[in-house]
Amino acid sequence: MSLGKAMIHARKQKSLARAAVHVGEQSWTQSNQVMQMPVLVLNASYEPINICGARRALVLVLKGVAKTEEEHGLMLHAQRNRMAMPSVIRLLEYRRIPHQTRALSRKNILLRDRNTCQYCSVVLPPGELTLDHVIPRSRGGNSTWENLVACCHSCNRRKGNRLLSELTDMQLQKEPRSFSLHTSRQIMRMLGRGDDRWRKYLFY
Ligand SMILES: [Zn+2]
Repeated sequence: MSLGKAMIHARKQKSLARAAVHVGEQSWTQSNQVMQMPVLVLNASYEPINICGARRALVLVLKGVAKTEEEHGLMLHAQRNRMAMPSVIRLLEYRRIPHQTRALSRKNILLRDRNTCQYCSVVLPPGELTLDHVIPRSRGGNSTWENLVACCHSCNRRKGNRLLSELTDMQLQKEPRSFSLHTSRQIMRMLGRGDDRWRKYLFY
């Protein structure tokens, strides 16, 4: 029986939870810490699409859904099997990513706009920013990714109920878009700074 199959038969989750992780001479029974280490998930096309915990990544590899592209350097011992802890995995079948994978929320709008007022470019803590409807609600504007931007209170007051076309001294720094894969990638870039094995997939 192959290593993969043997481990699946050994009741994946439980056996992984009990797996011992060895680093050089050290070994200890792990421990959620190692199992929660972030693993970069690539689409079959090598496009980064997600970050998951090591436990989930191992399950995907053992199920044959994904393949380890980069190893972490840690060896995992589960019963009599050895397996390298992945740092980057790649899905074997291409997965279509829905255009909009993130919920429209205040938190995500601020994340997209990097806590920056989209009119005057001031960067503020989330608590000091508000959301502005580019086309005011009173004038038929909807609450959508394309019509909501992070805004400081001062710009929000100044803009009031007017349209940008009615204002000469205010304009958007950039066109608001849905929280796209591109934005997710920016986040992954920030997260990936600590792991050199992620770089070649994230910085291109
Ligand atoms: Zn402002």
